[in-house]
Amino acid sequence: MNNYDLAELIFPDVSSDIAYYLTKYPERNLAEGAIVTRYAPSPTGFVHIGALFATFCERTFAKQSNGVFYLRIEDTDTKRTIENGIELIIDDLKKFDVTFDEGPQNENEYTGAYGPYIQTQRKKIYESFIKYLLEQGKAYPCFCTEEEVNEIRRRQEEAEASIGYWGEWAPCRKLSPDEAYERIQRGDRYIIRLRSEGSEENKIVLNDLIKGEITLPENQMDIVIRKQDGYPTYHFAHVVDDTLMRSTHIIRGDEWISTYPIHKQLFQMLGLKEPKYAHISPLLKNDNGSIRKLSKRKDPECAMSYYGDIGMPSEAVVIYLATIANSNFEEWYLQHPKEDIYNFKFTFEAMSSSGAMFDIVKMYNISKNYIGELTAEQLYEKAVPFLERHDPQLFRLFTADPAYTKEVLRIDRENEKPRKDIAVYSDIKAQVWFMFDELFTYDWDSSVRKVDTALLLDYMENVFDPSADSQQWFAEIKEFAGRHNYAVDKKAYKKNPEEYAGLFSDVCEMLRYVVSTQTRTMDLCSILKVLGKDRVLERIHRYQEKVDGAEF
Ligand code: GLU
Repeated sequence: MNNYDLAELIFPDVSSDIAYYLTKYPERNLAEGAIVTRYAPSPTGFVHIGALFATFCERTFAKQSNGVFYLRIEDTDTKRTIENGIELIIDDLKKFDVTFDEGPQNENEYTGAYGPYIQTQRKKIYESFIKYLLEQGKAYPCFCTEEEVNEIRRRQEEAEASIGYWGEWAPCRKLSPDEAYERIQRGDRYIIRLRSEGSEENKIVLNDLIKGEITLPENQMDIVIRKQDGYPTYHFAHVVDDTLMRSTHIIRGDEWISTYPIHKQLFQMLGLKEPKYAHISPLLKNDNGSIRKLSKRKDPECAMSYYGDIGMPSEAVVIYLATIANSNFEEWYLQHPKEDIYNFKFTFEAMSSSGAMFDIVKMYNISKNYIGELTAEQLYEKAVPFLERHDPQLFRLFTADPAYTKEVLRIDRENEKPRKDIAVYSDIKAQVWFMFDELFTYDWDSSVRKVDTALLLDYMENVFDPSADSQQWFAEIKEFAGRHNYAVDKKAYKKNPEEYAGLFSDVCEMLRYVVSTQTRTMDLCSILKVLGKDRVLERIHRYQEKVDGAEF
């Protein structure tokens, strides 16, 4: 018996002709420099912000180089698979503009010429590559039980040797093909291990596109490539899949750096070309002065659903991710707030090699800017679905008269210097509630501001002109105030305040207070125009009834 017989016994229905697959999934016909990369999650159905960040980077690099970004489902760890996991991942990412050129749509369908893209559907392919290694004597079946492996470990600890299944310590490495053949025929259970050709004494170098040169020890462990359940391990599937799917770049979390020596060795032993690697550092958080990794367990902002729930536009989340992806993006964005963010050229060099700080306050600021630049129409379209879910009353009021609502939203918007104080859709209510009669509570606190209602009625009845532009409006109210002994000259007022009823701006503030119960609001002239003369008059009367006569 030789290695070929052994390989045949293990995989009787599989061909070890790996060239078949290399021809079947040929090199992609793309322009020089095109990046082919992938997102390779387990289908647990949960995309967290770190994964979104990684996919943003992956997709952007692929897109900007006219390459390909595909989805591959790594479900060989069957315990972690959940129902509809694939659809949930696709839907979650789509909300943040992360879409795939290729990959599964669900468990049964996929697009792209390099599929199937679900690992459990690729068993035969892995077996072919394993059979090839077995034939070469570069892999072998291992019959050790868990107890035996634990015992090896115990002895290694005692002898202060490197812990693991390797070299002299690895009993099944030494089995002859005959012995292995016999044990398999006898029905002994086994896994398949790589026959490592490396030694920890030797060093290898990873030229990481983000982190630079990293020196690591060569892999000397006879790592498992095929588990008892017949599925490959991550390491083996990574090498086979990324080869056959023709990935040029592996962009993944930096927790994988320590296993790079295994991957390098696998590529070498299979005679395959190694892709480029870019390892992304985890997102960090400043937790009351101490810096730690963002945590799924501790941080609600880790979940994608969080952003929808607080009413953060997904576009703002994406812009924020761009600012942490490349340190020089933000400056560019401030200069080009209206441009497509993908016009900025993202590079691996400008990525943080130690970990980007995730700062939700900064995301809020970015969002204020983003929402500030929206038109009333756009804001309406985006906010309404949020309100439908989170504020049924405001949703009803918004949608009862969309034209009116857009008028309200247009205040301080669609101009050179838009107001920027809405960060999340739930902030809208605080800005506009008093523009809706149903929400207007007539709840003034008379100690806040003294109001001359007769004066305001006079102004609204006789002076207010809804067709005046804001400059004209300003001139007119100033002139009116002046006629009623309100100082139009601040200096003169300061000299002899007792000679005046007040400053002319007090007239504006009284009006503002009566129509909104607030001392600070959006632009007053616009508020008056959108409310209209009758509703303003009504509010003044209401004020009079409610407050006038009270002691000031
Ligand atoms: N399935 C691996 C994970 O969940 C993918 C790592 C990679 O991108 O290669 O982290």
